[in-house]
Formats: sequence, C-alpha cells, structure tokens
Amino acid sequence: MLYLDNNSTTKIDEEVLNEMLPYLNYSYGNSASRTHKFGWDANDAVKKARERVANLINAKPDEITFNSGSTEGINFLIKGVFEEYLEKGNHIITVKTEHKAVLDVCEFLSNKGGEITYLNVNKDGLIDINELKNAISDKTILISVMYANNETGVIQDIKDIGKIARENNILFMTDATQAVGKIKVDVIEDNIDLLTISAHKLHGPKGVGAVFIKRRFPKIKITPLLHGGGHEKGYRSGTINVAGVVGLGKASEIAQKLGEYKSVLKLRNQLEKELSEIEGISLNGDLNKRLPNTINVCISGVDAEAIIIKIRDEFAIASGSACTSAEVLPSHVIMAMYENEEKAYSSIRISLGKNITTKEIQRFSKILKKKIISIKNII
Ligand code: PLP
Repeated sequence: MLYLDNNSTTKIDEEVLNEMLPYLNYSYGNSASRTHKFGWDANDAVKKARERVANLINAKPDEITFNSGSTEGINFLIKGVFEEYLEKGNHIITVKTEHKAVLDVCEFLSNKGGEITYLNVNKDGLIDINELKNAISDKTILISVMYANNETGVIQDIKDIGKIARENNILFMTDATQAVGKIKVDVIEDNIDLLTISAHKLHGPKGVGAVFIKRRFPKIKITPLLHGGGHEKGYRSGTINVAGVVGLGKASEIAQKLGEYKSVLKLRNQLEKELSEIEGISLNGDLNKRLPNTINVCISGVDAEAIIIKIRDEFAIASGSACTSAEVLPSHVIMAMYENEEKAYSSIRISLGKNITTKEIQRFSKILKKKIISIKNII
C-alpha cells in the first residue's frame, strides 16, 4: 500500500519517535515543576524543542508558543487579535481558498460583529495583490493568507502580502501548516507577524503544534484562548505535552537539515509528465508557485471518487482535503478557482512524501493511467 496523502498527515519519523519515547516513560516530569530533576529535564527538553522550531522559521525561541496544532493556533491567533484590537477596527481580510479552520473562525467572528473580506483567487489559485490593497480600510486589523494551500499546493506571494500589511500597520498572519518543512519559510524575510505550524504535517506527532508571534516592532497583543496556569507566557495555559513538543522539535531539526523537497520535486515532475499524457487531464493550480510534493489534477468527465475506489487497495490518495472529506461537497478551493462543480468532482490530490522512490512513482502512474482509461471506456 503506497501512501500518497502526505498533505493530510505524514508518517512519524523513526528518529522523532525515538527522541519522544523517554518522555512518555521514565522521563515523565511536568515541564512546569521547578522543584526536582523530573521537572528540570522536561523543561530542558521543551527549551531545546523551542529552539529547533524557532530555527526552522528564522524566529527567536521566545516567539514560539506550543499548542495542540494548527486548528488551535488559527483559532487563537484570529480570535485573539480580533478581541484585542476591536477598538481599532473589526475588519479582517482573508481568502476564499483558506483552510476551513480559518474560514470557520472568520464566519464565527462575523456573527460577533466582525466584518470579513474574502479575497478571490484566479484560475491558478493566486490572489490579486491589487484586490488586497483595495480591500484595506482604516478598520482592517488583520490580513490572514495561507502560505501554501493544502489541496492544490499553491504558494501565495507571502513576502509581498506581508509588505503591504506592514506598510498599512496591519497585522499579517499566515497559516503555514503545509509550507513549514517542505519549503523555506523565513518569518523575517517574509514579513510575517503571526504564523501557525502543525507537527503531524512534517513527520512529527499528531495533536501538537506551535504559533509564531513576533515579539517586537510591532508589539502584538493577543487574548489567549485558554486560561489557567499561565503556561507559555500566559498565551496558552495547560500542562505542556512534553513528548509531543520534543517530537515537533526533532521533526523541525530534520526538516531544516533536509532543506527543500528537491528530490520530491523531481519525482513530482516525472509523475506530472506521465499523467499529462492521459487525454482530458489538466493541472489545478499555478505551475510554478506550488509545493514540491503536491499534484492536484482534474480528469475531465471522470468522477474522482470512482478513481479513488478503483485504486484504494494499493494507493492512498485524496479528493479535496481530508479535513472536509466527511462531507460530499465539491472542494471550496477548486470552486473558488474555476466556479465549476464538475471540475471539482473530477479532481484528485496526490501528495508525495519525502521518502518516495522512482519505482513507486512509476508503479502508481502506470496503474492510475490504466484505471482512468478503463473508467473512460465504460463511460
Ligand atoms: N491549515 C491547513 C492548511 C491544513 O492543511 C490543516 C490540516 O489539514 C490545518 C490547518 C489544521 O491542522 P491541524 O490538523 O494541526 O489542526
């Protein structure tokens, strides 16, 4: 069984798991315990993890706050900014193709007096910078644009968006869940104020993540989501998941050493070339501004679910995003790009992992082609 759904989640790295294990058995201290070695050891491990995560995105350790993953991070950042800056304004700008976590939080806030602008994307999945500029008003407090899309892999012009936000004294947040670990993300170069990370997208454990909050220039205030013991400088109360955080730290270190997914990109290009030989197949998303591991293709006239069923004993792939796959609705991302339901229902997502081999890609491509042709012949 070949796993080709790495944008949904990834296999935990052996090295990550090994580094986590001691914190699940004999080194089980609470990192907030100050009076004994169990606590000190746990605290040292959390400190090291914080440094590793910070290094991966060129942040400082005190700019990293650990949490349970990106859904929490997104809720915390958007709701926390909204509450804190309500006196300045109630306007948030985001994009139609964001992850549901962002869209649902924005919808929630629109029922609490928030005014939300949802930017359009073009057929390549990219926003129009002029539309963004025109959407800004003196009531705008936050611009939230995802770094890379989970369904298409499309990478927005984050640096330019961040620059516009900064010129207008507006906070800039990016959901970098899919980008961190696959491409270079540099919070300074990219003009990012707020960012979310999730460990399970970069071969770490599930249920752990982090947010980056820029400490200075501007000085940012955020209302916490959880109140309690004042952990994480009061931003996120609750006993730290030490083993999980250690896993995120190790996964970050490995990702930094690995650098960009260059070998994956080569294999993705090979697969794309082979798939392009199939009649009626077209790529969804910008050809170049895209994650190196992601292919989202529309197979004209063919139901994506039918293909998935035909290959699912051998290959794990997705149609739309896994987070919404419980609902049988056309992908909101593909709909925002093309306004075409048929295209949305005919699209599949293949997301490669860093350990994929040429042989595996060849086997997948051969079988996928065969199945598509057989479905087309039935039709
Ligand atoms: N944002 C994006 C772009 C994602 O792909 C996901 C997960 O699929 C999330 C947010 C939510 O992340 P988590 O699973 O850590 O809550």
